[in-house]
Amino acid sequence: MDLDRLDTLLAERGEPAFRARQVWEWLARGAASYEEMTNLPAALREALAAELALSSLAVEAEALARDGTEKALFHTADGRPIEAVLMRYRDGRRSLCLSSQSGCPLTCTFCATGTMRFGRNLTASEILDQALHFRRKEAVDHAVFMGMGEPLLNLDNVLAACDRLPDVGIHPSSTTISTVGWIPGIERLTQRDGPTIRLALSLHAPDDALRSELMPVNDRYPLADVLDACRAWSAARRRKVYVEYLMLAGVNDRYEQAVQLAAILTPQNTFKVNLIPYNPTDSPYEGSGRDAIDAFRAALTERGVPATVRLTRGRDIDAACGQLAVKAA
Ligand code: SAH
Repeated sequence: MDLDRLDTLLAERGEPAFRARQVWEWLARGAASYEEMTNLPAALREALAAELALSSLAVEAEALARDGTEKALFHTADGRPIEAVLMRYRDGRRSLCLSSQSGCPLTCTFCATGTMRFGRNLTASEILDQALHFRRKEAVDHAVFMGMGEPLLNLDNVLAACDRLPDVGIHPSSTTISTVGWIPGIERLTQRDGPTIRLALSLHAPDDALRSELMPVNDRYPLADVLDACRAWSAARRRKVYVEYLMLAGVNDRYEQAVQLAAILTPQNTFKVNLIPYNPTDSPYEGSGRDAIDAFRAALTERGVPATVRLTRGRDIDAACGQLAVKAA
């Protein structure tokens, strides 16, 4: 719901300030219509239903993968496409993958979103409406900003959305912001007051030359500076930084590269590596095989760097990491 518009409408009608809170609490608990909001006067419910859509996003398509992963394609009121994903895990965890922008202005060579046209930053309401879409289906408890866009380029709106996610069931300690290493944003997260939201860094290479090739943003914010910013965040926030490392066959998956990666991820207990099997896109890369991934992981853990392999979800509906592009866009 466009929450700013809600405030305006309520003020125009001379409604007491607590009405906005009441509407939000219903939405956060999964209400799918104004009719359900029984503590609002009937006349107000009718007026709102006539003037303000329950969501700022229109659902264009939905897809359900064999593993239970569900993807929704939305468009904003001005026609921008965005996607969000619900991942259902066997242990009961329900994790949302949220978009912060329509498209992405960065041009990482392996990522499908980077190939679509950049639209604009999403508002806090548009970010929350992705979560509310899934909350109307079932309870949710985790969120990752790993959908479309670079969240640290839209940090005000991302943080405004994070402030309200606890009402939806998702606490800051269960929320992760993933970044390409946009240093000004990392610094803001280090310094800001308020609860700690988890931080993930998309690293993908152990040296500047390769990283710049894969991620042009590395020319602007080189590896050593990005890692320093992450160390400062980790020290201030007393949390590990999750390092995302995409496994690309013959590109960044050699033994020496694992050794080099372990050497730069110091001091110990600052970083935790998540190795990501590559999901096919239209890019020229191929994903590393299972053996290469396991060997890379072993080389890291032997050197005291904790590493896990990401469980890939939703591949058959193009909902896996890096596959969130809207073909038509
Ligand atoms: N811009 C932020 C948020 C998006 S996160 C960031 O890059 O961190 C998206 C994650 O999916 C990143 O770790 C990205 O590197 C990864 N990814 C991109 N393309 C992928 C692909 N084809 N297969 C698997 N992971 C991919």
